[in-house]
This record gives sequence, C-alpha cells and structure tokens, in this order.
Amino acid sequence: MSILSKAYFHDEAAAFAYVESVVWANGPVCPHCGGYDRIYDLKATRIGLKKCGQCRKQFTVRVGTVFESSHLPLTKWLQASYLMCCSKKGISAHQLSRVLEITYKSAWFMAHRLREAMRSGDMSPFGGEGAIVEVDETFIGNDKTMKPKGSKKGRGYAHKHKVLSLVDRSTGKARSMVVDSLKAKDIMPILEANIHAETHIMTDEAGQYHHVNKSFAGHDFTSHGKGEYVRGVTHTNTIEGYFWIFKRGMKGVYHHCAKKHLNRYLAEFDFRYNNRVALGCNDSDRQIAALHGIVGKRLTYRDSSAA
Ligand SMILES: [Zn+2]
Repeated sequence: MSILSKAYFHDEAAAFAYVESVVWANGPVCPHCGGYDRIYDLKATRIGLKKCGQCRKQFTVRVGTVFESSHLPLTKWLQASYLMCCSKKGISAHQLSRVLEITYKSAWFMAHRLREAMRSGDMSPFGGEGAIVEVDETFIGNDKTMKPKGSKKGRGYAHKHKVLSLVDRSTGKARSMVVDSLKAKDIMPILEANIHAETHIMTDEAGQYHHVNKSFAGHDFTSHGKGEYVRGVTHTNTIEGYFWIFKRGMKGVYHHCAKKHLNRYLAEFDFRYNNRVALGCNDSDRQIAALHGIVGKRLTYRDSSAA
C-alpha cells in the first residue's frame, strides 16, 4: 500500500465520497438554493448525483467549485491536486499531462484552477502587539510590459516582475503579492493594509523601508551591503528561505510566467508554505486544505453554526 493506492485516486465513487466528506463536512447542501433538509441520493442514476427536495434541482459536489465545468473525472482532479500539494517546488503542466495521461491544455487549466483553490481568502492583517513580521522583495522573470531603457537591456531589476512578501514569525505564515513599484509611496499603503500597526518590522537596508517605523511599532534592518545578515533577532532569513523555494520552483519547474499569472503562482507557493510540515501539515493534510478552497463564493457548504 502507498498513498497512491488510495481508492479515491482510482475509483470515481470513492473520489466523490472523499470530496463530499471535505466540502460537506456537516452534510450536503444544495448549491442552487442553500437547502439541506431534504437532499435525496440519486447515485444509482449517476455517481455523486443528488436532488434537492426544496428547489427540485439536481446537483453533485462539483457544482459551484473549481471542478464544475470540467469533464475530467474527479479521480484525476484528486491525483492532480495531490501532486501539486506534495511537490515542494510545484509541478509543471507538461509533467501533469504525462503523469495523468491528459492533454497539456487540460493539465494547464487544471493546474490554474487548483491554484485558484489554493488562493487564500484571508485578508486579515499579519502581526500584532509583540509580533515580528519580515518584509522583503524579490525579482523574477521579465515584465514584457516594461521596456528596458537604453543600452542596459537585460540588466538591473526595472524590467523584472516585482514580488513583495511578508512572513509573520509568530504564525510562520507568508503572504505574497505582485507589485508594480517598490517605491516607498507605493509600498507603504500595502504594508499598512496587510500588517497591524503594533507590529515590529524586519527588513534589509533597502531605501523604501527607511520610514517604516512611522507606521509601525518598530523597525530593525540589517545591512546586506556591509555583509551583515543577522544581528540577534534582526534578520530576514525566514522570508529569504521562502524566496529560495519560490525561485527554485519558478526557474526550475515553471520556467516562464506572464505577469497576469504570477499572482496565481504566488498563491500556490504561499499555500504550500503556509501548510508545510513545520506547521504540522503532511501531504494529505495539504490536499484536504486545498479541497477546502475549491468552493466558490456561493453557499455550497453547510455552516456548522447554522446546522
Ligand atoms: Zn435546492
């Protein structure tokens, strides 16, 4: 036996039962009307099919999720989500296509929908009183929307995608975003929206962070330019560890990425980082966390407090 021999990777009925147990932890809910009192099982007609006695409409657990408009069996979706969840640096659509024996196009759409499932809807600020948040930026790929100036084509960072990340040292969680500019006037509103004012901020010596202490409880930085990387608790090593994995994945696995998709890839790397082994999450836990994210904004799960 191995993880890959689990029934839900091979048997469609088992796959439905597994996804239902995650999405409908408190029992099935009609995605059309939100009803849950009179749900009838029509699985003899089609695997996973249910009917709502309230609105008389039929549905399966796929309705209202990122799996909805796909013709691929749920077993393939579970195989794909497991591969994405257990590969620390990600898995390319080409690789997914070969392993799952589906077309590249299907694999590409599947991977992007799963990234959508991994995207955290949590917008609550990081940090708080006594907490430390590391802030840093990195550059990746080529932003085709920016024209390199003069003869210095290909040099410097201006033409690259700019990624701003935060890591909350107390929770160990990361949040990353693509930004158009790293100027203080553009960065500060983002930091203020994403970090509690009572937080102590750690950065490197970059100029855009010079006035960070005006908006937060405190600010310390190391001077990488002078060879200083750690001074007691003052360092950005946690966030650099995050960037290390992100860059290995983007360079080694994904190779290219247009700016419009970069936020999705960041969601994928944030997701795996925030559900990592050091935080008590194994590969299967991570897959369950991803399945929780497949549900859209519509009411397709039963709120335990309302049950
Ligand atoms: Zn209904």
